[in-house]
Amino acid sequence: MWINKNNKLHKKPYLCVQKIGLYFGQQPVYYTLKFMSTIPSFENTKVAFSHKSNNELRKAYYLFRVMNNNTVVSAGSVLTNWALRLHLPIGGIIKPTVYQQFCGGETLEKSSPTIAQLAKYDVKVLLDYGVEAKESEQDFDQTVDSLLQAIAYAKGNDNVSAISCKITGLAKFKLLEKYTAGKELSEKQKIAWERTRQRLHVLCKAADAANVSIYFDAEESWIQIALDTLITEMMETYNTKRAVVYNTIQLYRHDRLAFLKKSHNDAHAKQYVLGVKLVRGAYMEKERKRAAEMGYPSPIQPDKQATDADYDRALEYCIQHLDTICFCNASHNEMSNLYLCELMGRYNLATNDDRITFGQLYGMSDHLSFNLADAGYNVAKYLPYGPLRDVMPYLMRRAQENTSVAGQMSRELKLIQKEMIRRGLRY
Ligand SMILES: Cc1cc2nc3c(=O)[nH]c(=O)nc-3n(C[C@H](O)[C@H](O)[C@H](O)COP(=O)(O)OP(=O)(O)OC[C@H]3O[C@@H](n4cnc5c(N)ncnc54)[C@H](O)[C@@H]3O)c2cc1C
Repeated sequence: MWINKNNKLHKKPYLCVQKIGLYFGQQPVYYTLKFMSTIPSFENTKVAFSHKSNNELRKAYYLFRVMNNNTVVSAGSVLTNWALRLHLPIGGIIKPTVYQQFCGGETLEKSSPTIAQLAKYDVKVLLDYGVEAKESEQDFDQTVDSLLQAIAYAKGNDNVSAISCKITGLAKFKLLEKYTAGKELSEKQKIAWERTRQRLHVLCKAADAANVSIYFDAEESWIQIALDTLITEMMETYNTKRAVVYNTIQLYRHDRLAFLKKSHNDAHAKQYVLGVKLVRGAYMEKERKRAAEMGYPSPIQPDKQATDADYDRALEYCIQHLDTICFCNASHNEMSNLYLCELMGRYNLATNDDRITFGQLYGMSDHLSFNLADAGYNVAKYLPYGPLRDVMPYLMRRAQENTSVAGQMSRELKLIQKEMIRRGLRY
């Protein structure tokens, strides 16, 4: 019972008592949660940063300190965009800093040392070929080739949990938008839609044959019906025995808990396994802005509490239907991760139940990933890789995410600082 897949003995569960504060309005209400757990504590920075040498920790500290400065990040983003457009050689600055913190390497081979280093701590990876929003058929075919290489790399490689894919790297945004709007496609677009379907079949078939899973990202709501249609067809075809294909559910949308349940009912009726990655959602401002500008009701929940509540309900729904659902809890929210551990305990599930994965981004929230892995849970880091130019939009989002909120230190910076103090390092 307490031996994980690598035959490592895990700590026995103990009674875990967590005091949590929930905000209903301005003031927090504190609750005491008591449950049997194998989670030591997300506060344990010794475990969280055990994979980093003193020098690596110092480097991460300086990087997050720079990113904590809103002015530097805003100016840096503008300058980097210009430099990229003018083909200026900025790799020398970006590669040893932001790129190294958040990406594996320019190729799969170059990412291998990072993957091996994480594996020492039982942390796997979700390979994310960092290409976004391409526009030509040639680019799309190139993306398919790169993803097939990722599947081949993942085949038989215990350190790779799954590969990840954005459909906007395989089809034109305008095509997906028109399909989602329910408009009649032109003859040319019908052919392009067919080609997209075939690209997805090629990928999912290869993943199935290689015993690898493939996660499809959720994107903007105005293309999501097209993505859901394609992904559902792939699940119906390839998930008959196991979850080869995973869709992503964004719980910041008020209609997605119902969509999760509908997807599950459909899967149940057609007898395939539903694979889902649960996320809160990454495009909130963009969604609200478009809805306001175009005068339709925003698809986003009224507030953060509503998103959190649906996220919890989605976790619970998945746990209650594990006979036909496999899922990934893709979140950096401490409460969500803790809540899932608590649910797994409540439903008497082994910490390493292979239907459940905890996912965080590489370079962030190590206090969650490494403490969860240390306690025996299945953990995978989303590891982007690819040429610097292609992963730049992703890196910009990470930098913006780590700027200070109301002048406070970012969570990452606080944690690194805490570990430096524990190790007696100067900063
Ligand atoms: C492994 C991994 C894979 C991911 N894949 C995807 C993906 O495919 N598609 C995608 O869209 N995102 C994806 N994300 C990003 C994710 O959706 C979130 O943006 C990010 O993880 C922050 O949410 P959180 O759960 O970590 O925690 P938190 O920091 O607790 O939540 C922040 C999130 O809450 C929501 N929120 C914040 N304020 C409000 C408000 N006022 N009203 C309503 N909601 C609010 C927003 O979604 C915001 O991003 C992924 C994240 C991870 C870790």
